[in-house]
Amino acid sequence: MVRLTRDRNMNPPNPMKASLSRFRAAIFLSALALATRLSADQATGTLDVYWVDSEGGGSTLVVTPAGESVLIDAGTPGTAGRVVTAAREVAGLKGIDYAIVTHFHTDHFGGVPVVAAGIPIAHLWDNGIPDADPDHNPDTGFWRSVSQPYRKLTLPHHLVGAGDLVPLSQRPDSPRLSMRCLGARQRFVDAPAGAPRNPLESENIPHEVDTTDNANSNVWVIEFGPFRMFDGGDLTWNMEGRLVTPVNLVGQVDVYQVDHHGLGFSNNPVLIHSLAPTVAVMNNGPTKGTAPVTVQGLRSSPGIQAIYQVHRNVRPGEEPNNTADEYIANMGSDSGKCPANLIRMSVAPDGRSYTIEIAARNRKRTYATRLDKVVP
Ligand SMILES: [Zn+2]
Repeated sequence: MVRLTRDRNMNPPNPMKASLSRFRAAIFLSALALATRLSADQATGTLDVYWVDSEGGGSTLVVTPAGESVLIDAGTPGTAGRVVTAAREVAGLKGIDYAIVTHFHTDHFGGVPVVAAGIPIAHLWDNGIPDADPDHNPDTGFWRSVSQPYRKLTLPHHLVGAGDLVPLSQRPDSPRLSMRCLGARQRFVDAPAGAPRNPLESENIPHEVDTTDNANSNVWVIEFGPFRMFDGGDLTWNMEGRLVTPVNLVGQVDVYQVDHHGLGFSNNPVLIHSLAPTVAVMNNGPTKGTAPVTVQGLRSSPGIQAIYQVHRNVRPGEEPNNTADEYIANMGSDSGKCPANLIRMSVAPDGRSYTIEIAARNRKRTYATRLDKVVP
């Protein structure tokens, strides 16, 4: 069961005061939860996902059939305004029920205070902000400037752990919706008893140990009836290998949010091939992500039908490895002039198909949910 705890860094020391503020927060939150649900334009019962352009950061907004919302990562402080615009103006939300931070890199957690200032956030879930730069960067000034506004947030806080379920409301006339954490801070859920070994196990060739906070990313699977989607934050190669070998803890999915913006020290082919997605969505930037090795891994994945990119990648010195233009939301390379077009997915009310649209470019394609997926 989900625990509602507070991080020690955010906790007031006085227990009386804490319990009073928890009480006040509870009253405020019940009102807020009601308000966000009523405000969402979710009369249709679809599960909607918006990939907001944070120029190579993470910011994925999920709006459930019951009208609740989950933001997985918030981009950088500089791009988080786009998340607020997407939430308010595109998704029609008045609040975000859960903001999840996969790990403590600026392009994922840095934008949370900006989002919180632009739209109310009811709950904050993360790995527990470290006291010092988790990558041991000697420039402590940068870490301090980015982490301080986050530490000052007074939102009800939950320390994410493997096996956690976001307590989302079910809509009575909809298939079951779930959002489950498969791992956090390098600890993964247990394999189900008697689970078979992954037949692709021998594809896992470990790399050098990653000592950055990317390896600590918390990892999520969203299910809506037969539909399944994976968001692993910036999980890196060896952890990806552990997630699917010797037992595939994720199972197969329909949609793979490409780990770590498509960088090559993530996206272990054994992960991609074990997930066997129909569609991949890469939240890259003009000069970030989209590594040739990642694109190769995606293109060689059995059953892949489309690879979407938030940006066309124009990094010099690389092979041209972009997906077809019609699957790219933003073509320009000058982020100052970027229209920040988003990619929107709408999963049908029965979960059996999903439509991915780049509205600004008038592109839309519908995919059938795979009903023969192998799931743990
Ligand atoms: Zn990142």
